Amino acid sequence: MRTLLTADEIALRVTELGERISTDYAGQPLLVIGVLHGSVVLVADLIRKISQPHQIAFVRAASYGANTTSSGQPLLALEGLPSLNGRHVLLVDDIFDTGRTLACLVEELQRFDPASLKTAVLLWKTERREVAAVPDYFAFQIPNEFVIGYGLDYNDDYRHLPHIAVLEPADLSPAR
Ligand code: 5GP
Ligand code: MG
Repeated sequence: MRTLLTADEIALRVTELGERISTDYAGQPLLVIGVLHGSVVLVADLIRKISQPHQIAFVRAASYGANTTSSGQPLLALEGLPSLNGRHVLLVDDIFDTGRTLACLVEELQRFDPASLKTAVLLWKTERREVAAVPDYFAFQIPNEFVIGYGLDYNDDYRHLPHIAVLEPADLSPAR
């Protein structure tokens, strides 16, 4: 494993992101929606850097299982969401890879008539985009390598690492 982004580098960028979001949404009723499970660490850190009052909610999306490439169509679980009608929604995920997960979620959430709907991610793998949209906010652009830590998993492990590391082929184990 090779460290790509240290905990300090991440903290600095997440603080900047929170400050920008606070400015952009000043005076507007913001709802932050995290995409489980990968976004939990980012959401926890980011919301403490957003200075205006806001609410949070979560949806679930799964596309990978024990692979390191996306399976295409993500499985979405939207139950338990509060009303989005007329609210400013910021959808937060760990990483924008092909973009399919966020594009699908944006399409689904638009049905609930939010006042606005934007996306924020920690990482953006710019080389892999397969959809028209790009993230509205991102902390880092990264090359096409499989990364773990700070919420990102491999086969549900490594989410707790405080930094982002590249998982190299030798680190990959068969599915449990
Ligand atoms: P997309 O739909 O944009 O292709 O993929 C988004 C999802 O795939 C992310 O929410 C994340 O769960 C997973 N993913 C994409 N790239 C990586 C990666 O490099 N590492 C890990 N751990 N997950 C990734
Ligand atoms: Mg994810």
